[in-house]
Parts: sequence; structure tokens; C-alpha cells
Amino acid sequence: SKINIAIDGPAGAGKSTVARMVAGKLGYVYVDTGAMYRAVTLRMLELGIPPENEDKVLQVARDMVIELKPGEEGQKVLLDGKDVTEQIRSTGINANVSRYAQIEGLRALMVSLQRQMALRKGVVMDGRDIGTTVLPTAEVKVFMTAAVEERARRRFQEMKDPESTSLEQLTRDIAERDRLDAEREVSPLRQASDAVLLDTTRMTISEVSEAIVSLCEA
Ligand code: C5P
Repeated sequence: SKINIAIDGPAGAGKSTVARMVAGKLGYVYVDTGAMYRAVTLRMLELGIPPENEDKVLQVARDMVIELKPGEEGQKVLLDGKDVTEQIRSTGINANVSRYAQIEGLRALMVSLQRQMALRKGVVMDGRDIGTTVLPTAEVKVFMTAAVEERARRRFQEMKDPESTSLEQLTRDIAERDRLDAEREVSPLRQASDAVLLDTTRMTISEVSEAIVSLCEA
């Protein structure tokens, strides 16, 4: 019978690529929770609503419809029916998403949506708080890390607009986002006590996904 798999870790550890691959191998549904926070951030930046205005952020976020759909090259993200898959990966979103993700009420809203998506099981969900908060009873939990330079290199390779930044700048941005995600008061990034730690610095994507599939078979 189907289980749920929680994959957490810092930016660029390879979570989304691996989660998608594991979901493909098992015939499961992949849920990218970072994409949800990114879609919220996009809407707030479009409307000029700063993260300090928590009430307004929540009011707008409650009316947003975020859909995650399997597409040909990975998951498609729809915001109120509009495809924002590429837009939510911009440097502007990268720089601001952690600030909106700190809003307690917004997290509560996202967590409840994410739990609903996992009710039927057979979900591979990646994020920062999946094993600790969203799905604390997930049957398999993985905490993926990698050296910051390696994570920046991976992110750089998958960027749609690489001319907008440099590898050095991206390394600094990721280190800063790590710091904000780890040090924030609301739901800081941490490894669940029952999660398996996978340092992927010297592993290939297929090695990592095979390791996770074996955990599911164990
Ligand atoms: O996974 P990704 O790097 O796309 O996530 C973007 C940002 O969204 C993270 O830096 C973090 O601030 C926030 N996030 C979060 N909780 C999650 C997923 C993402 O706070 N479950």
C-alpha cells in the first residue's frame, strides 16, 4: 500500500529533482511546497504588498488558487489558472520568498493545503518543514544536504536566466537564504529526529533517488 515520503533540506540540495524522480519510479504524486511559497511571493510582489503587512498578505493568499500539475519537463505551477512555472524561479522571487515564508498565518494556510494533498497517500513532498510539521507521520523522511558551493552550482545549471547572476553571487544568495530559513523564529529549517540524513555533495541524482526508493522498500 502507498506511503508518504517527506524530503526536507536547504536550497539547492537537489530535493525537487530527486523527489520528482522518486515519484516517477513509484508512480506517486510529487508536491513541491517551495513552489507554493514562491507563487504567494510572486502575487505579493505584483500587488506591492510587503511582508510586514501580514493581514493583507493573508487576505490575498486565502483567495489564491495554487495548482501543481505534472508537466513534460517537471511540475507546472498555476496561479489562478495562469502558468507561472518560470516566473517563480526569478532572482526577485529568490530574494524575497523567505520573508513571506516567515508569516505564521501564511504557513498555517500552506500547511493545511499541503496536508490535504497528502490525505490519500502516495505523495512525495519536498520543502523545509515536511517531516517536522506538515507530515510528521510520513513513513519515510529524508533530510538532504550538500556543500553550499555544490548547491549553488546545481541551482546555476538549472536556472532559466543564468545571465541574470553569477555562480559567486548565487552562492552568496543561497548561503543567505539558508541563514534566513535556519534562523527564523517561525518554523526554522531543522531535521526531524526520525529523518534519514543524506549528504548528496558527492552523489549523483540517480544514486540519491535509488537510496530513497530503498528506504521505502525497507
Ligand atoms: O524549495 P525552494 O528553494 O523553492 O523554497 C523557496 C523558499 O520557500 C525557501 O527558501 C523557504 O523560505 C520557503 N519554504 C518554506 N517551507 C517550505 C518550502 C519552502 O519556508 N516547506
